[in-house]
Amino acid sequence: MFFLQAAPPSTTALLLLLNPRYVTDFVLEFVQNACSLLLKLKQPPTSHSYDIVVVGAGIIGLSIARQLLISSDLSVAVVDAAVPCSGATGAGASIPPGIFAMRSRQLWEKFAHDIKLQGLDPQDVLGWKKTGSLLVGKTSDDMAVLKGKVDQLSKAGLKAELLSSLDLKKVEPLVVVGEEGGGAFLPNCYQLDARRSVAYIEKENRKYAKEGRYREYYNQPVTGWLRSGNGEVDAGQGSPTGDREFQFF
Ligand SMILES: Cc1cc2nc3c(=O)[nH]c(=O)nc-3n(C[C@H](O)[C@H](O)[C@H](O)COP(=O)(O)OP(=O)(O)OC[C@H]3O[C@@H](n4cnc5c(N)ncnc54)[C@H](O)[C@@H]3O)c2cc1C
Repeated sequence: MFFLQAAPPSTTALLLLLNPRYVTDFVLEFVQNACSLLLKLKQPPTSHSYDIVVVGAGIIGLSIARQLLISSDLSVAVVDAAVPCSGATGAGASIPPGIFAMRSRQLWEKFAHDIKLQGLDPQDVLGWKKTGSLLVGKTSDDMAVLKGKVDQLSKAGLKAELLSSLDLKKVEPLVVVGEEGGGAFLPNCYQLDARRSVAYIEKENRKYAKEGRYREYYNQPVTGWLRSGNGEVDAGQGSPTGDREFQFF
């Protein structure tokens, strides 16, 4: 097959008739190509093995992969049903100063600082800005929720300010909420561009691909788990809707 692609049959036949030297070349090349084709057909599909397989290439999965690559010798593969940012990550855009998000906030601050130490601008790389967040409510029920949030954050020592309808008009004249409404301003909120952040983490992870420690399998949904007799997950398996079937253990 390879041989025929290399020279169209009509040309080949003509050359054979004209020059006996081509008979030897033809036969040799044909045998070589046929053998290599047979060997290829006999070989099992290529398999790769990784110490860790992360399912889901959102901000969490890619960050886990990054941390493993940086802090261990383990090899890591990331499998995603689609592509990064097709899940919740594509929707998120800020790092609130919430009580439960304190640790996450510290880690992001460190991440931005490390990027600065490399001589890069975190605003370019991550879309990193500290503009604060403005939450807006229209009804008295909305305002009760916002007040609860402001009280909760203030109790935890975090800056948060409740804005009346008039206060809000001064800060954001184009936001119209009516007399009942208002807002809550959280000045210590960071903003970031989730897509840029993910692209940066992917780029950093891919530096480990050369040494065989990292690989991405996108558009490869994991569709089930293979369980042993005691119910523990032994392996994951991929879907025929992806471009290959796979299992990982
Ligand atoms: C509208 C909205 C606004 C938000 N705003 C903020 C915000 O301002 N600040 C904030 O901190 N957080 C915000 N969040 C929450 C934040 O976006 C999520 O907590 C975060 O993105 C979760 O990341 P993840 O990697 O766990 O999930 P995802 O980004 O959802 O990633 C999961 C990945 O898993 C893949 N996957 C799913 N099933 C399979 C499968 N069977 N096989 C293989 N792959 C699979 C998906 O394709 C996807 O890429 C917001 C969320 C939403 C929806």
